[in-house]
Amino acid sequence: MYRSGSDPFTIARGAMVDRLAAAGGFSRTVLDAMERVPRHLFVSEALRFRAYEDVSLPIGHGQTITKPTTVARMVQALDLRGGERVLEIGTGSGYQAAVLSELAGHVDTCERIGELYARARDTLLFDLGRTNVTLVHSGDFSSPGGPYDGIIVAAVAQDLPDGLFDVLVDGGSLVIPVAGNRGQSIRRYVKSNGRLFEDELGRARFVPLVSPMR
Ligand code: SAH
Repeated sequence: MYRSGSDPFTIARGAMVDRLAAAGGFSRTVLDAMERVPRHLFVSEALRFRAYEDVSLPIGHGQTITKPTTVARMVQALDLRGGERVLEIGTGSGYQAAVLSELAGHVDTCERIGELYARARDTLLFDLGRTNVTLVHSGDFSSPGGPYDGIIVAAVAQDLPDGLFDVLVDGGSLVIPVAGNRGQSIRRYVKSNGRLFEDELGRARFVPLVSPMR
């Protein structure tokens, strides 16, 4: 298949998207967005040759870039049509924020570790010239804007951060990995008429969400 784009990783990125497509369950819109985002720019040069494998990779400070299938699953769960306001807690490398920014109107993303925040800001704003992403250096779930049509928490929670539901619009979805007795599972909460409806999106392995209370 012909691939547009002209960086040295175009073919590897296309192969990653083909594998996601073959796995099934992802919309063409999400797959196309992932084909447009140069994931290799979100990892260190030493790890670039692995950037299009379906693995999470270290990004420093004990944190990891989320693996592509998990990003695809979480982003897909928001069912974005364009124009939405989205909040991400846990910027990490900024990769998932880049994918979200392809699909939503505006993305606010918060990261508690200053160096990761600064690196993600450089990649998203300066290298990739994103104008619809606001990066925030914070770890207390404070959100710069809102309310949000979609929220993704990119780290595993022990308890649900209740305050996040207050900044979710009615009809909006919050996607969050939660720790349980049988390991981690990704859950989606849809707010409807003030009530929350929950479904499970599968299993995952995330670094811990650091609660501001502790
Ligand atoms: N989706 C990211 C990966 C995130 S890893 C990517 O694509 O690269 C999870 C990130 O959440 C880590 O960088 C960690 O520092 C951050 N984090 C953990 N608890 C947080 C909190 N309370 N607020 C903001 N960021 C948090």
